[in-house]
Amino acid sequence: MGLGPQAFIDLSALEHNLQRVRQAAPQSQMMVMLKANAYGHGMLTVANTLQDADAVAVARVGEGLTLRQAGVTIPIVILEGCFDSQELVQAAENNLQLVIHEPGQINILQQQTLTNPIQCWLKVDTGMHRLGFPVADALNAFRALSECSGVADGVRLMTHLSNADEPDDPETDHQIRLMRPLVEQIGAPGSIANSGAILNWPESHLDWVRPGIMLYGASPFNGRSGVDDGLRPVMTLQSSLIAISNFSKGDGVGYAKSWICPENMPVGVVAIGYGDGYPRHAPSGTPVLLNGELVPLIGRVSMDMITVDLRSQPDAATGDRVTLWGRGLPAETIAQYAGTISYELFCGVTSRVEFIQGQPD
Ligand SMILES: *Cc1c(COP(=O)(O)O)cnc(C)c1O
Repeated sequence: MGLGPQAFIDLSALEHNLQRVRQAAPQSQMMVMLKANAYGHGMLTVANTLQDADAVAVARVGEGLTLRQAGVTIPIVILEGCFDSQELVQAAENNLQLVIHEPGQINILQQQTLTNPIQCWLKVDTGMHRLGFPVADALNAFRALSECSGVADGVRLMTHLSNADEPDDPETDHQIRLMRPLVEQIGAPGSIANSGAILNWPESHLDWVRPGIMLYGASPFNGRSGVDDGLRPVMTLQSSLIAISNFSKGDGVGYAKSWICPENMPVGVVAIGYGDGYPRHAPSGTPVLLNGELVPLIGRVSMDMITVDLRSQPDAATGDRVTLWGRGLPAETIAQYAGTISYELFCGVTSRVEFIQGQPD
């Protein structure tokens, strides 16, 4: 095995997490989130593993085309829709479904004739205030969209939750109470739930759920980790110890010497850094897993390396494997230390990390 950084992608964990979604929302169809290279896990690998999903979703037409060109045949939803008539034609030719979130997109559909009608979702803004038609405009927009000759029968409705990472936040109930009557009034299939709502708000499930982070095994809730929610981590990020040195009390380690040795101590160097996607803001004290034990990172994260405190590991040797996150050390923990969320850590793993299907030894 090489000494460099490797991301192990555990497909059995992915399947387990998919079953967890089915168990939580057994009546709903499932639209699996593959945007941003499947949250950094590899879009094609995940798409091929989750054949069982009812649809997949990506942000942009280009991502949808990549999936089609790779031979993915299940329904693909484009969350940001298309921006011009050329993209619209491409989307229709490749049997992509569009989320329509602003009036300009309806105009494009009204002006462009299509040979194959395209399946559309109308995005409603129930409080996220990012994309979507205001609730008061939704019925008119639904009618205008449904009347376009290029739009397939059976337009669906979708909204997105802003605060579902907090189980006690009343905003989610508020959004659900706005969306459900609208779905009933219009009489179209509806979709509200992201991972947080799948796990915590059953009344949001409706016809379609849209799991993202929970499929990858991380908790959607602040302050929790995936195992608490019955999930298994899909990505395990590892690298190796490539050097061990003994420094003296008072020696400074790394850039800006931000770590000063409080006593004579062994310091290990692990071959991973922000150039691989390890967060540069991870402070001294952030844990890594070495030979089954947590040891703290010390000093600044560099582009290719981090340094760790080996005082608790006198037997550590160069070549020992180190887990940065994944099995045994939730990405959520590292995210908390680094002031971010697991989503960003996963998306940030760079292409120079070797991706391997399976679990580490
Ligand atoms: C990313 C996304 C989701 C999934 O969110 P998670 O918190 O990862 O489950 C659902 N719906 C939309 C519109 C999204 O953009």
